[in-house]
Amino acid sequence: MNYFEYRNDQLYAEDVPIADLARRINTPFFVYSARTLRRHFRVFDEAFAGTDHLVCYAMKALSNLSILKLFASMGAGFDIVSVGELMRCLRIGADPRKIVFSGVGKTDEEIAAALEAGILMINVESRPELHRVAEVAGRMKHRAPVSLRVNPDLDPGTHPHISTGHRDSKFGVPLSQVDEYYAEASALAQLEIVGLSTHIGSQITEMAPFAEAGRKVAAIVGRLRSAGIALKYLDLGGGLGIPYQEQPPLPSEYARALLKPVAGLGLKIITEPGRVMVGNAGVFVTRVLYNKETDVKRFVVIDGAMNDLIRPVLYQAYHAIVPVDRRMPGKTVTADIVGPVCESGDFFAREREMAEPAEGDLLAVMSAGAYGFVMSSNYNSRPRAPEVIVDGAEVHVIRERESFEDLIRGEHIVSLKPA
Ligand SMILES: *Cc1c(COP(=O)(O)O)cnc(C)c1O
Repeated sequence: MNYFEYRNDQLYAEDVPIADLARRINTPFFVYSARTLRRHFRVFDEAFAGTDHLVCYAMKALSNLSILKLFASMGAGFDIVSVGELMRCLRIGADPRKIVFSGVGKTDEEIAAALEAGILMINVESRPELHRVAEVAGRMKHRAPVSLRVNPDLDPGTHPHISTGHRDSKFGVPLSQVDEYYAEASALAQLEIVGLSTHIGSQITEMAPFAEAGRKVAAIVGRLRSAGIALKYLDLGGGLGIPYQEQPPLPSEYARALLKPVAGLGLKIITEPGRVMVGNAGVFVTRVLYNKETDVKRFVVIDGAMNDLIRPVLYQAYHAIVPVDRRMPGKTVTADIVGPVCESGDFFAREREMAEPAEGDLLAVMSAGAYGFVMSSNYNSRPRAPEVIVDGAEVHVIRERESFEDLIRGEHIVSLKPA
């Protein structure tokens, strides 16, 4: 469900024709729909309404300050994975007591910043990290609220690059060692053990892996309780998929299946949805530069590139790509949609059947809100694209297109002798 729709064959972002945006700010750009973001948060949050819970938006999916501020205003907390993300939260005035900190490689500085800010908990992912957190907390004369992130050893059935719940993955503490680590943690006076967390992967479209993870963590919570370790929070991570092509469960179905094995534990449930909040709330808009034909193939060359949206080559991801103006559809062609970057991996779609566009036509790459802009780079010295948000008929530029000066910021020209 989103608010990008055709009216009289013109693609709109809410009440704004995307072609108007393209005239105003040039291509390529990302456009987000505020109404869609609000709806996604509300529907997800309401799915857990009967349960003591906190939705911590996994902001790595899309971390523009305006969007964080919108979610915070709706009651969201945040799942962060770096001090940079913590600073973003603090900049928009987010409540630190609603922030959880995940990730396998937190530095001392990051741990200290999180403790200083007074976040809800640090999700610890290894035994050495446990001791490091205790050490940093000790130095600061703080008690660090921690949870252990458990790797439940299961196959979430998603792309290997975004699968995190299998025993081969770098994430989380192995099931076989969890009890031991909790015992160890409870002996460290600088730590306050408050929770248990897990996150099994991303773009998961079946309920079974979530239910399996739930059963496994419920068993651990039970054992810890018998051992005298009482937790407050059970953080079940994120990972719910969105319909790029597949049909994932609805948030209501997801919540029901997720809660079933853990509802009786009496813990506050934390979730960390990322993609499902923002994926369908964003579109990447690009212009066709050339129709190129070789002996064996057709290419549609566009002004967007892999530096703007890397998902197709990184995850073999599918994005629907539609014309912004579909009044006069050209003949159907099968083409690769490619950008200008000097890499064969610079494609948005391969062998895609589409209405043949004309040079200068606008195309919309759908479902580009999650892991889109945030993964963009300056490769080939391309400025990163601007981000725009539409709210009804209102348009706000929430990040400017980068300039050449932005591209070279921080560089120094030193005069090195030629020989
Ligand atoms: C990336 C991540 C998420 C969000 O995953 P989505 O698939 O975007 O919902 C949640 N928790 C952790 C720890 C993550 O690393």
